[in-house]
Amino acid sequence: MSVVDEVTEANQSYASGFAKGDLPMPPGRKFAVVTCMDARLDPARFLGLEEGDAHVIRNAGGLVNDETIRSLVISHHLLGTQEAVVIGHTGCGMLTFTNADLHEKLGPDAESIDFQPFPDVAERVRQSVETIRSHPLLPDSFGASGFVYEVETVRIEPV
Ligand SMILES: [Zn+2]
Repeated sequence: MSVVDEVTEANQSYASGFAKGDLPMPPGRKFAVVTCMDARLDPARFLGLEEGDAHVIRNAGGLVNDETIRSLVISHHLLGTQEAVVIGHTGCGMLTFTNADLHEKLGPDAESIDFQPFPDVAERVRQSVETIRSHPLLPDSFGASGFVYEVETVRIEPV
C-alpha cells in the first residue's frame, strides 16, 4: 500500500469515530509544547494530550529558534497560552552530525545554512528555556520549563 493510501485509510478510520468537531481554536489547557520531530516521540500520548488541549511545535531537535519563537508569540498573544514546555530527548539525531558534515555532503547550496546541531541535549534544552524566558515578545508571566525524554523508558526528567 502506498503512503497516500495508508494515511487516507487511517484518516477515514479516525474520522468515523470523531465527535469533537466543535472545539475552539485556543488550546484548552493553555500551554504549548516544543519538541523534536523524532518519530519515536508521540507527545499526545506521553503527555496525555487530547485534541484541543495544547499547541505542539516540532522541528529537528525541538529547538527554540526564530521560527519557534514566531509560533510561541502567536500561541501566546493570539491564542492565549501561558506556558511552554520544551522537551529534548536521548538519542537525538541532532547529536550525530556537524554543520561541516552536512555542508560537505550537500555542497555549495547548503553552505550558508546553519542546521543547528548540538552536542548536549540537556544543555540545549536549558538554552531553549532561557531563550523563551528572556525573549522581549514573551512576557515574564509566560512560563517555560525543560525536560529530557528518555526514548527507552518514555519518562521525562526536568533539566
Ligand atoms: Zn531528536
